[in-house]
Amino acid sequence: MSEISLSLNMASALGSIVLSEEKLKTLIDRAKQWALLYGVQMRRADDPSNPATVDFAPMTLFPSLLPLAIYEEAKSLQIHFQTLMHRAAHDQTFLDKCFKNVIQVDEFTKKLWEIYQEVQKQGLAQPLSLGLFRNDFMMDTKKAKFGMNPFHEVPDGLELKQIEFNSIASSFGGLICGQQPVHRHTMAAAGVEVKDGQLPENRPARGLAAGLLKAWVHYNVKNAVILFLVSKVERNSQDQVWLECQIFEQNPAVHVVFATFQDLIQKGTLKEDKKLYLEDKEIAVIYFRHGYVPNHYTSQKDFDIRLTMELSRAIKCPSIHYQLVGCKKVQQELARPGILEHFIKDTSVVARIRATFAGQYSLDMDSEGNEAVEMAISSPGNFVLKPQREGGGNNLYGEEMKNYLIKIRNSEERQAYILMERIHPWQQKNHLLKLGVDPSLQNVVSEIGIYGVCLGSADEEIYNVQVGHLLRTKSSSDNEGGIVAGFATVDTPLIV
Ligand code: ADP
Ligand code: MG
Ligand code: MG
Repeated sequence: MSEISLSLNMASALGSIVLSEEKLKTLIDRAKQWALLYGVQMRRADDPSNPATVDFAPMTLFPSLLPLAIYEEAKSLQIHFQTLMHRAAHDQTFLDKCFKNVIQVDEFTKKLWEIYQEVQKQGLAQPLSLGLFRNDFMMDTKKAKFGMNPFHEVPDGLELKQIEFNSIASSFGGLICGQQPVHRHTMAAAGVEVKDGQLPENRPARGLAAGLLKAWVHYNVKNAVILFLVSKVERNSQDQVWLECQIFEQNPAVHVVFATFQDLIQKGTLKEDKKLYLEDKEIAVIYFRHGYVPNHYTSQKDFDIRLTMELSRAIKCPSIHYQLVGCKKVQQELARPGILEHFIKDTSVVARIRATFAGQYSLDMDSEGNEAVEMAISSPGNFVLKPQREGGGNNLYGEEMKNYLIKIRNSEERQAYILMERIHPWQQKNHLLKLGVDPSLQNVVSEIGIYGVCLGSADEEIYNVQVGHLLRTKSSSDNEGGIVAGFATVDTPLIV
């Protein structure tokens, strides 16, 4: 028998069902095949440039539990978070304040900031920004009360706490579409009853594609294309293909082209009227799936072409200001008293958003920053140190964080980071299926992301919708998240 006798307070979707080793092995094998069939797949790490060698994406064998109230709150807050980020992105004074010190010490953020400033100086050729966002949360246990029933028991007082708001290249909205069917199969095969609505239908790719098409309609040129700005080699390319196919399903007349910075440098032209062309194709919408970390820019030429794109009439997803507003520094500044109220008038919405904020601290060279540094050094287990980076694997925790903070304690370098209260997420049990990793039942923690689409200008919000979710689950012993980064797996919520 597999070690399925779950310990106290370690709930799992399986409850008290017992699976033999043999049954488990068969089920894992089936699950991998279902995943491939339903499109939950990624290019292989050892052969990422070969489109013919995909494998199942890292995933959980079973869904993880998610309390209904948490699920509903995260979903219903999405449009309000998007309004908040949309308004913050168009508030130059606020952005100035956020980035003033960061750009003194963070070269990459400075480069993005210079693009932003140049665009502001020359004036926006395209007033609209498109956001395909994903807002990520964990279930914090700091105030939770654990009962005595180990199975299907959800502790009272779990709190929805925001991890971060992703405003560029928010991924997995494609291949997650196939995970719910995979989990329906695995639950049925394990003999676990799932009630109606417990494994909600989830197809973010549809809504994300609809967002790209909405922007295309606003651009209003019949033969113009949607350009996916990508890297040359991308393990997660299947996720992009999901969106390409969804665009085709919804409007086959709209063409999608994939291009790199290099392609645009060689074959792109910005015309007098600010129309951007790739060879003879006019570009209506640019969807950035690349360009969010320093090594995506191999030389100044890549930054120059990014600026050219930003200066064009094409609708950018995200525009440079939408990208900047997703920085951790902005999240920390939004958490200051009074700031939410500046952007959102409805006090009950403000209260609900604020309730999801963990403690966040600036590390500027002032008394507040000094106090934050000392606080983190004296209790390193309670904080996370975050730079202005994306994609997982960049944060510092525990002793490593402490030692680093001691090193940069009195240096301006610390302004590149923010300090965040550490969330202690609710632990469950699940099997993580990752290539080359033991799939035994283990303690896991989940992060729930909500996808949404926002389209608008400084004066107007044209479109603001929530379009689905992503559950990512990782071993409770890993600090970091990120699926491509190798830590997390795709998962679906079993609503309880
Ligand atoms: P990135 O943009 O690189 O994904 P995140 O802020 O999402 O940056 O951090 C990466 C991962 O680190 C998250 O997926 C989560 O697993 C973990 N993490 C981030 N912030 C916290 C926190 N405050 N407490 C606990 N874990 C965190
Ligand atoms: Mg991120
Ligand atoms: Mg993240």
